Amino acid sequence: MKGAFKLDSKYYEQFYKNSPTAYSCQKVIYDNDGVPMDLVFSDYNKAFENLMELQGAETLNKRFIDVFPNCLENINDWNKYILDAVINKKSIQFDIIPFSSQKWIRMMIFPLQRDTLGCIYSDVTKEYIQDNEIEGFLNVNIDMLSVVNSNGYFLRVNQAFERILGYKVEELEGSSFTKLVHEDDLSSTLNRIKDLQNQKHISTFINRVRRKDGVYRYLEWHSQLNGKYIYSSARDITERRTLEEQLFEKNKNLAQLTEELKEKNKILKTLALTDELTGLYNRHFLDQKIVDEMNQSDIDRQSLSMIIIDIDFFKQVNDTWGHPVGDEVLKQTAQILKKMLRHSDTLIRLGGEEFMIILPDTNLDKAINIAERVRKSIEQFKYPIAGQLTASLGVAQREMLESFNDWYIRADNALYKAKEMERNCVVKV
Ligand code: GH3
Ligand code: MG
Ligand code: MG
Repeated sequence: MKGAFKLDSKYYEQFYKNSPTAYSCQKVIYDNDGVPMDLVFSDYNKAFENLMELQGAETLNKRFIDVFPNCLENINDWNKYILDAVINKKSIQFDIIPFSSQKWIRMMIFPLQRDTLGCIYSDVTKEYIQDNEIEGFLNVNIDMLSVVNSNGYFLRVNQAFERILGYKVEELEGSSFTKLVHEDDLSSTLNRIKDLQNQKHISTFINRVRRKDGVYRYLEWHSQLNGKYIYSSARDITERRTLEEQLFEKNKNLAQLTEELKEKNKILKTLALTDELTGLYNRHFLDQKIVDEMNQSDIDRQSLSMIIIDIDFFKQVNDTWGHPVGDEVLKQTAQILKKMLRHSDTLIRLGGEEFMIILPDTNLDKAINIAERVRKSIEQFKYPIAGQLTASLGVAQREMLESFNDWYIRADNALYKAKEMERNCVVKV
């Protein structure tokens, strides 16, 4: 090496002796058949003594398996390592716990000279502690934690999988995750895996996964891509999901019932028996009541009369003073009429500015009298804003067994005639 600085071999020796890395040299020993069977320590440096917590006398010229008894789980491994290093001239790496130090030591053995191997030692206890800690955290977690590779195979799962899904850790590790997914959720699951591979974090993705007993459970996933692997935490939300579904069903039923109730209320409202504005009975009440009234008068052979009252030129009130004043006129008219009636009479607001009075035990003459009094009361009343108003009235006595409709038409015709005349009058039929 022209120009290069060449180290004297004593420097290499110094380097070996003083290095903070632990080194040793071992001679190979062979069995009777010439097969390499163990190593004898022929040299080591200070760092080795410190790391292994051994003194020279305990080590020098001693066999490896005597210096480090039971440091490997399987003595056959040891034989394999020696063979590989001596016969195949390979570098071999493995971890041991030497009884002397109670540390995890990583050994790298490599061929040095014929029958001599070199070895480098390093303390990897931290790695093992970390691994144990991670293992501990994985298994103390109540959620299902997993690492899945890009082909969808489980690399690691924690014991929560066994508790929740019934599969042993060994059963899952190395098997395909997607095989457990419900077929209806497969395409959405694969899409999410694709999303993850495009670096999207996913949270609250829900799918169904088959338990060992064949039952599907709803799992909620939180996943993230880390390098080539997908790290996930999953939670069994089947109970919550079932409750939500039941609640949804109940709410749906409730909404349906509410809708039905609304519909019924609507009908009830249209069937309500009183008129909101005046508080008088309305047409629905008349429809219910009139049959009884007519039957009773038939049974009692008593006369039954009807008066229809219609305020004259009511439209002008609205047009002149506005609708609210019109409403007031209707309310006041209702009060005027109410005051003039007997308990047995029935007063109804037919609609608009039209009222009806049903008078039991009242013949036509009597009914005309009452109608005349009503007409006068209205004419004489001074409406607060609208002033003086009049009304036209039609009167009809029911004939024996006459239908309500026929009777009503006759009274309405009488009213029509009153309107045709000068209004503010009573017309009978
Ligand atoms: P006629 O003497 O010929 O009966 O004339 P009129 O104006 O009294 O009768 P018309 O049928 O032409 O008009 C009645 C008006 O009553 C029309 C309508 O807007 C009004 N009306 C109906 N219901 C109400 C109500 O509840 N409040 C008010 N303010 N007006 C109403
Ligand atoms: Mg009118
Ligand atoms: Mg009218």
